[in-house]
Amino acid sequence: YKRIDQPKQSKDELYQMGETFNNMIGQLEQNYVKQEQFVSNASHELKTPLTVIEAYADLLKRRGKETPELFDESIEAIQSESNRMKELIEQLLLLAKHDEQWKVTAEEVHINALIGEAVRSFCAGYKRKIEFDEKADVTVKSDAQKLKQLFYILMDNAHKYSKDTIYVSVERKRGKAVIEIIDRGGGIPTAELPKVFDRFYRVEKSRARASGGFGLGLSLAKELADAIGAEVKLDSVEGVGTTAQILL
Ligand code: ADP
Repeated sequence: YKRIDQPKQSKDELYQMGETFNNMIGQLEQNYVKQEQFVSNASHELKTPLTVIEAYADLLKRRGKETPELFDESIEAIQSESNRMKELIEQLLLLAKHDEQWKVTAEEVHINALIGEAVRSFCAGYKRKIEFDEKADVTVKSDAQKLKQLFYILMDNAHKYSKDTIYVSVERKRGKAVIEIIDRGGGIPTAELPKVFDRFYRVEKSRARASGGFGLGLSLAKELADAIGAEVKLDSVEGVGTTAQILL
């Protein structure tokens, strides 16, 4: 008779394995809840414009022929809500693509040219006064398209949440390229600042809804920045304005 020793697992090891499994399950649960919340938020946001479109279509069907003055108002509402839906679907697609990994390129990007061109098209498209200050001539290795998307999101917010001039600058600070977008709008309350990067988070939902946001812009901006190894920072004072920075 020969005694064979079983591999021994100490209590500590078993306890550690249990802990690891617990953490893994916790993480899976959290991801599942997040995913569920995302789908429910997205469906809700898509349903709202659809309800408005349905209501106007119904109104036109019932009273359009004998009340032609209803026509313009209804068509305008239908068009504006369809545009909102399109914008949301585009953002959702971009996020969905990210979940399957974006392809990131790294090419020489002349920041002044890229931002200058974006500012010009923004000025023309949104009819806004934008001052562009080139404090330095900066070229970096980055993904030009993603950087442009990121810049557009921050510009779009400055445009939506302020009325006066928007100030854009490009400079070099402590070895980094810094793109700054400053607006003199209503700003963001300090307590809300960490939350605005969450998907679907809006400060005062009704106010943001009136300006047309879904609360997806900044979460996309953060993900774009992470993808290209950049950083987005927001500094804001309620009633004074907001400074958004892209650091590369
Ligand atoms: P949205 O599409 O609603 O603008 P974002 O994710 O881009 O979504 O922003 C989240 C919220 O942060 C906005 O709804 C708005 O309340 C606030 N916010 C973002 N940028 C600004 C800004 N420049 N000025 C004031 N509030 C802002």
